[in-house]
Amino acid sequence: TKRVVIKVGSAVLTDNNNIAKERMLNLVSMISGLRKTYDVILVTSGAVAAGYSTLKLDKSKQIGKKALAAAGQPILMTAYKKKFDIYDIDTAQILLTEDDFDSRKRTKMFQEIIDAHLTHDILPIVNENDITSTPEQQFGDNDQLSAVVAHATNAEILVILSDIDGYFDKNPHEYQDAKIFKTMSKIPEQALLDESTPNNSFATGGIVTKLKAANFLIRHGRKMLLCNGFDLSAAESFLLENKHTLGTLFL
Ligand code: ADP
Repeated sequence: TKRVVIKVGSAVLTDNNNIAKERMLNLVSMISGLRKTYDVILVTSGAVAAGYSTLKLDKSKQIGKKALAAAGQPILMTAYKKKFDIYDIDTAQILLTEDDFDSRKRTKMFQEIIDAHLTHDILPIVNENDITSTPEQQFGDNDQLSAVVAHATNAEILVILSDIDGYFDKNPHEYQDAKIFKTMSKIPEQALLDESTPNNSFATGGIVTKLKAANFLIRHGRKMLLCNGFDLSAAESFLLENKHTLGTLFL
């Protein structure tokens, strides 16, 4: 079975410091449909924002962020579990840091865990382990983590669901005349060096980390689709009907 990694960011999953339940349900429903064709691995953000619903700490401080992530991780997973239960889908939680891929041996261990889940029809839900890791051990955002996961698990494609329709020639939230790139095979050097510009206060990546993820996958001969996570029709038509309607395809 073909594999697909779906990455969803805080911008889609949270709304005013709370889990955006309806959007999460739409995502879960899509994943349930995808599982008829694909083995699916989900990479999700949202733990820090979910933690903020019970614990008002300053997420810009290291301890604050870790404490929020620790409080939020079970909230996030409970929210997912409730929704995946509707579709009778069992899930597993995998928390990772960059160190988990620092040797062939450790990468292989990760691959075997994912294989074990997928052969038993369990949906692995991956997130960066912000809780005990040091800055050196962190990817810093799930965009690059999801790219490494897609490569390590031999996925056909990584689909990044964000709050925009794709990659534009300039920030669409600032420029009305921004134009979307339909496909891209070479990321401009300069774009990879730009400062990150997350849209949402809980987002960490912005567009730059998404481009870095795309760059990594292109170099490894894999594909990535950056598309809208509010309206999942672009992701669905691409994955289920092989139609590229909207979203930027990196390949
Ligand atoms: P997520 O939580 O989904 O990872 P981010 O807020 O980190 O989302 O990243 C997406 C944001 O990147 C967009 O909402 C947009 O404001 C910003 N952005 C900056 N430049 C661009 C660009 N050229 N094309 C698309 N988005 C851009």
